[in-house]
Amino acid sequence: MWSRTRLVLCMLLAVSVILGLTGGLVLGQAFPRNETLYTGGKQWGPVSNWNPFMAGNQAMGTIGLCYETLFLYDPLTDQFIPWLAESGKWLSSTVYELKVRQGVKWSDGQPLTAADVKFTFDLGKTAALNITSLWDWLDNIVQVGDYYLEFHFKQALYQEWANNLYNIAIVPQHIWASRNATTVSTGANENPIGSGPYLFFAVDQVKMVWVRNDNWWAKTALGKSVAPKYIVDLVNTSNENSLGLVLQGQEDLNNNYLPGISTLLLGGYALHTYFPGAPYHLAANTAWLDINLQKKPMGDVNFRKALAYAINVADIVSRDYGNMVQAANATGLLPTWDKYVDQAVINSLGTSYDPVKAKQTLTAAGYKDVNGDGFVEAPDGSKIALKIIVPNGWSDWMAAIQIISSNAQAVGINVQPNYPDFNGYLDARLNGTFDLAIDNQQQISNTPWSYYHFIFYDKLADIPSTQGGNYGRYNNPTAFALVSQLDKVPTSDLAGMKAVISQIQTIQLTDLPIIPLWYNGMWAQMSTAYWTGWPSSADGDAHYLPVTWNGYWNMTSILMLCNLTAK
Ligand code: MG
Repeated sequence: MWSRTRLVLCMLLAVSVILGLTGGLVLGQAFPRNETLYTGGKQWGPVSNWNPFMAGNQAMGTIGLCYETLFLYDPLTDQFIPWLAESGKWLSSTVYELKVRQGVKWSDGQPLTAADVKFTFDLGKTAALNITSLWDWLDNIVQVGDYYLEFHFKQALYQEWANNLYNIAIVPQHIWASRNATTVSTGANENPIGSGPYLFFAVDQVKMVWVRNDNWWAKTALGKSVAPKYIVDLVNTSNENSLGLVLQGQEDLNNNYLPGISTLLLGGYALHTYFPGAPYHLAANTAWLDINLQKKPMGDVNFRKALAYAINVADIVSRDYGNMVQAANATGLLPTWDKYVDQAVINSLGTSYDPVKAKQTLTAAGYKDVNGDGFVEAPDGSKIALKIIVPNGWSDWMAAIQIISSNAQAVGINVQPNYPDFNGYLDARLNGTFDLAIDNQQQISNTPWSYYHFIFYDKLADIPSTQGGNYGRYNNPTAFALVSQLDKVPTSDLAGMKAVISQIQTIQLTDLPIIPLWYNGMWAQMSTAYWTGWPSSADGDAHYLPVTWNGYWNMTSILMLCNLTAK
């Protein structure tokens, strides 16, 4: 059996090598090093589609390098930057006027007009897309001339709309109008025609190459041009391989989690990170503990609080991550959302590491070790034996749940770490069969609404199919109603947003349906061997996001490319 397996593996390897070599020959040239940006960190397998509606597995840069959004959003300044749109404003409480930028052309030379924008949104009516749910509250779109649109809403969900403005990529009507709904939603969309600064150049099994679009509209409209002529995005093989490529200057920007950067920064390599010291990386998302509230004893808020008091997040930050991440505050809101954190609520209701308090909380709630095995039993005398899961191979998370398990055991809660494969981990969360799990699915965005919409996702029965969030099945109609209410607060009404968010935080910290742990980083290892002008926190440097993942080019990473200089 072994030899047969090995033979098949060898054959697969041979095929992939041949494909790789063939691709290399098709690519036909060595890319001039001083005109080429090598990237990695997005792609974990061969590239198979360039469909801007296929979130997750589209080629690196499909949205951002090729297709573009109406606005960019800068999370570091909380500003929207007009992009394919010149401007947008609410004419009334339910009508949003958008002025589409004049002079933008698709890469085949056709003009991009308001008709393309309307067409793109209208696609959500007939195809199952990420914009389909928008039509639950959007009534119709009226085109006024070639460059104006009016979006008429049944009910305006201001927070969500603002999120759409920088996430929905506009596609050309003259290319997409003849496609059926299935092709629109799941077609590979090879040889994509976009409006962005790069054109598809070539692809093989190990890389995808973009070439600069020298007719990009922003050169004349905004005086911006992207520096690299070629962007070669490498398919990840392993973190060790990526690290080697960065240290050798063969990869210019890598967005994998690479441990030990704090030491390597001092090692004389041409290595650069956004912050020169800890935490080295900007925060991308919150890692929190999902707690299955449908199982005993996790349904008991006192048990959850005891668990929160037991976990030593500072230890995870220092020992597991070498201070490459920061501890989350009790709400879990990202540093870019600091202004929304109600410190008074945290002061009165927040939990943090305090093992004495953890034991006191357990005792007061009736948990005690009646059988003398060192672990508490539930108030009804039943045994407690919990598993905490993360995907096998996710080494930083595996180390984290070892620390959390020993923290819990130290206060008498029997928690054991467990590492199913990735699909097993996903299934356990989606189907609610887990006890405890680490989760970080909600990324940085323009509004805490997106975070709360995820952790307080209200359609509990639909969670396995929608992957909507709230894997612990927290059920609180009051909290859900507040999240909906937040969505209806205009983004310009900061006081109104804070008032609702404060109420949500009060419920969150009273009930503790999840336990926020730390902020995962926008892992970005940049090499200064061939390119300089990288984003950094230093005064006078560009404060852009240095990230190639989906959804980040339109959060200012594209501006990073305009700021680079070849050495
Ligand atoms: Mg016991």
